[in-house]
Amino acid sequence: MYGLCSLLLNSDREPYNVNMKILPWLALPLLFIVAYFAVPRLKNQPKGESEVPAIQPLETAAVPRIEPVTLSVSPTALIQGEPALITVDGLVSTSAIQSFTLDDKPLVTFVDEEQLAALVGIDLHRNPGLYAIVLILKDGRVIKEKIEVTQRAVATAEFDIPEQLGGNTPQAEQELTSTLSQDTALLNSITATISPEKLWNGQFQLPLGGSPVVTDVYGYSRKTGSVNLSHNGTDFRAPEETPVYAMNSGKIAFAKSFRNYGNTVIIDHGLGIMTLYMHLSKINVRSGEITKKGDLIALSGNTGYSLGPHLHLSVRIGGFSIDPLKFIELMNAQ
Ligand SMILES: [Zn+2]
Repeated sequence: MYGLCSLLLNSDREPYNVNMKILPWLALPLLFIVAYFAVPRLKNQPKGESEVPAIQPLETAAVPRIEPVTLSVSPTALIQGEPALITVDGLVSTSAIQSFTLDDKPLVTFVDEEQLAALVGIDLHRNPGLYAIVLILKDGRVIKEKIEVTQRAVATAEFDIPEQLGGNTPQAEQELTSTLSQDTALLNSITATISPEKLWNGQFQLPLGGSPVVTDVYGYSRKTGSVNLSHNGTDFRAPEETPVYAMNSGKIAFAKSFRNYGNTVIIDHGLGIMTLYMHLSKINVRSGEITKKGDLIALSGNTGYSLGPHLHLSVRIGGFSIDPLKFIELMNAQ
């Protein structure tokens, strides 16, 4: 303070020099005033605000549109040995699918009239209960549905071993058991194969002309001596040499004779669907041939383990025999 007062008192004597000396001291309060107003403003500013770029509005056109994907199951509840159709709404191809399973086993899909679908054959001996259908998409979405399988009412009928296979003797029964397991193993190996392409077109028709009469239904148990045999198909009334027609287009997978099933034609319709025509008298096709819906493939008969002239029809999906009439009903309802 002394210095400052002495300079002010001496201002008259050396005006020029005094002003030069005073100016820095006068500037000090001004600096404090500037600092006083400037600092609170800086404090109120968010840190680094000036470095953050302004938020631009999102361009809606750049966001991919996510189509909803849903599963429809028909029917949602079924009896052991029945088929079901699962349709995928929102997809027209498999390109977006990561996995698609029923009870952790892959489903075979197909596209029919721009509708992605999967056909399921529930084995006659599958345990009743709820089975999960899980569709996982490549974008991470998981879509779930379920199928309820209920117990089939058990019906049993007593059957004789036909005379042509040895009649009701212990030897004939033993022969039946051992040859049936061989026949079944061969049948399973043929029908477990899956043609990668869909070979059928449109609706499935019955294999007999006119109005076929069902003489034996699918799914009941035939007691033959000490052996219980499941009836894995539908029997139709058919006098000897009744024309038998292909139920849909496909490839002939088998056209030979089994000991117990007799003369048999198997048509592979692709993607695990096969139709089987048994106990025939005459076969008109050869293995490997392409057949069209309605083609005359055979004449009915009474060969193999048969108790009279008739046509036995089986339908398999993924190697499992399912109810043929339920299959036709389901496929033709689409
Ligand atoms: Zn039958």
